[in-house]
Amino acid sequence: MSTQQTTYDIDTQHIWHPFTQMKDYANVLPINIVRGEGIFLYDEKGNAYYDTISSWWTNLLGHANPELADALARQAKTLAHVNFSGFTHPFAADLVKKLIPLLPKNLTRVFFSDDGSTTVEVALKMAFQYWQNSGKTKKTRFTMLTDAYHGDTIGAVSVGGVSVYHKLYKPLMFETFMADAPHCANCPHKKSDYTFDAENTQCNCECFDSMESTIKEHHDELAAVIVEPILQGAGGMHIYPPEYLRRLRKTCSEHNVLLIFDEVATGFGRTGKMFACEHAGVAPDIICISKSITGGTMPLALTVATEEIYSAFYDDWHSQKTFFHGHSYTANPLACAVSSKCLEILERDNLPDSAHDVMNYFHEQLRSLTQYNWVADVRYRGFVGAIDIVADKNTNTPLPENARLSWTLHRTAFTHGIVLRPLGNMVYWFLPLIVTKNDIDNIMRCSKAAITDALSDVLG
Ligand SMILES: *Cc1c(COP(=O)(O)O)cnc(C)c1O
Repeated sequence: MSTQQTTYDIDTQHIWHPFTQMKDYANVLPINIVRGEGIFLYDEKGNAYYDTISSWWTNLLGHANPELADALARQAKTLAHVNFSGFTHPFAADLVKKLIPLLPKNLTRVFFSDDGSTTVEVALKMAFQYWQNSGKTKKTRFTMLTDAYHGDTIGAVSVGGVSVYHKLYKPLMFETFMADAPHCANCPHKKSDYTFDAENTQCNCECFDSMESTIKEHHDELAAVIVEPILQGAGGMHIYPPEYLRRLRKTCSEHNVLLIFDEVATGFGRTGKMFACEHAGVAPDIICISKSITGGTMPLALTVATEEIYSAFYDDWHSQKTFFHGHSYTANPLACAVSSKCLEILERDNLPDSAHDVMNYFHEQLRSLTQYNWVADVRYRGFVGAIDIVADKNTNTPLPENARLSWTLHRTAFTHGIVLRPLGNMVYWFLPLIVTKNDIDNIMRCSKAAITDALSDVLG
C-alpha cells in the first residue's frame, strides 16, 4: 500500500478536520501535503502550491526554515519541557528579553499560553480579575465589535461577532455589549469607491459613535473592550483607519475601561509594522499575541499586560489575588527557543521594514484588480490583501446566494498551483514576510486564473 493510500484511508476512517463539513470530502480528497519549503507546500506527487495564506496565518519566514529548524532541534536535545509553575528557564527569559523592546513601552508583564484562543481567555480573565482585585467588583463585562473573531474556546466565542461561527453557542456564552465595527467597504459616509482609498478622503470616523456610546453608557460595568486592531481577520479581512483606535484608546482611558488588543493575526510584521497598533501610535493595556510568534512552527501565545495590572495581583498569598490560570505546556522551551530565533531573524533582516518595496508592489497589483467587474472592494495593509467578489460590480449584482464560491475556488486554486482559502465571497492573501516580487507576480496570475475559472463554474 502506498503512503498516499494509507494517509487517505486513515484520514477517511478516523480524522475529524477543523472548520470542515466532513461530508464535503465524501467524493473528493483533501490535498496530502508532505513537505514545505519557503513559500511552497508540496503534495505527495511533488506538485507545488503557493501558500498564500501562510498556513492559517502562522507562517512568517517560509516553511521548513532551516534556521528555525536548527534552533528547534538543538532545544529538543537540551530541554523539551518543564513545569513553569515553580520553575523558570533561560529559554523563556531569552524570548521575553527579545520581545519586550518590540512591544509598546507600557507592556512589560508576560503570561505564557499556547494559542490564539488561550491568550484571549487569559486576557479576559486577567481584565476581569484586575477589577475584582482592585475592589471595583461591578466591572465584569466586555465590549467587542460586530465581525470580531478572537478564537473558538467559549470565552473567546463570547466576545466573537461572526454569526456563522458563534450564534449556535449563544446559550453557553457570557453576555457582552456589541458595538458596530467600522466597515470602510460599505461606509455610509463613503467618499471613495475602495477601502484602500478611504484614508485619503476626509474620513471623520463617524463609525466610532456606536463604540463611544456603548462605553459611555456602560463603563461602570465594563471590565474591558477587546478589538483586533486595524484588521478584523476571520470576520472578513476588514481594514479600518488608525483614527478609530486613537479614539478608542482615548475613550477607554477617560472612562476607566481596560483596552485589549488581539494581535494574534496581525503581530510580527504582517500588517507592515511589527504590531498593527503602531499604525495608530497607541498602546493597549493588554496585548494578545500568537500565530506568527514562532514563525509558524510551534504553538505558543503570550498575553502581555501593564505593570499596573500586574500589581493588582501582587500581594500576600492569603489576600487571594493570585491569578489561577495555567496550561500544561505553559512556556514550553521548544516553542520559546524557536520563537527567540524567529525574533532574532526579524531583527537581523530588519523585517518588516526591509520588505516595504515588495509590500508596495503587492499593493499596486491589488489596486490593478479594480479593472475586473467581479471585484467589488479592494483593501490591504502590509502583507495582507483582500477583495470582495461579486457577479458584476457595474450592475451591483452579488453572487447567487447558494453559489459557495469559497469551496469552488479553494478546490480550483489547487489546479493552478496555489492555496486560496476564501471566507465566503471574500478572497484574501496573507503572505509571509519572505515573499518576493516574482512570487507576487505568479500568485496574482494564478489567483486571477483560479477566480475566473471558479466564477464561470458558480455562475454557470
Ligand atoms: C486565529 C485568531 C485567534 C485564535 O487563535 P487560535 O490559535 O486559532 O486559537 C484569535 N484572535 C485572532 C485575531 C485570530 O486571528
